[in-house]
Amino acid sequence: MTDEMRKLLTEYLGECWHEAGRNPHGNPRYVPICQKCKVDLEQLFGDYHRCFDLPVDMNDLRRKLAENKEFWGLDSFLDWADTKWDHESSFDELGYVIDDNFTNWLMDPERFCFLVAEWLKEKEG
Ligand SMILES: [Zn+2]
Repeated sequence: MTDEMRKLLTEYLGECWHEAGRNPHGNPRYVPICQKCKVDLEQLFGDYHRCFDLPVDMNDLRRKLAENKEFWGLDSFLDWADTKWDHESSFDELGYVIDDNFTNWLMDPERFCFLVAEWLKEKEG
């Protein structure tokens, strides 16, 4: 997943896509602060941007989609994802479909998050 997609998903959830300020004088005691929300980025572990590959990410996105009762809500996303599933189905040597259960296919956190990002990009574009 690209940074652009992670940023899109982060902002879709209403969270800050943190942007650290520069340390103009190379001060070793400089504490990176997000220029937008002012959070101390050293308090956040590792990459301070969400990776969107964990069950908690998938669940947050599912909840956000379900909140939207308008046209672009969870049902709309699931219909769209179903069309992607058809396209991505792969077959074994004997012609049988591998992973022929839509829900099982969709409930992979990394795939789910990736699909939501793709869907959001399509609906914006
Ligand atoms: Zn921030």
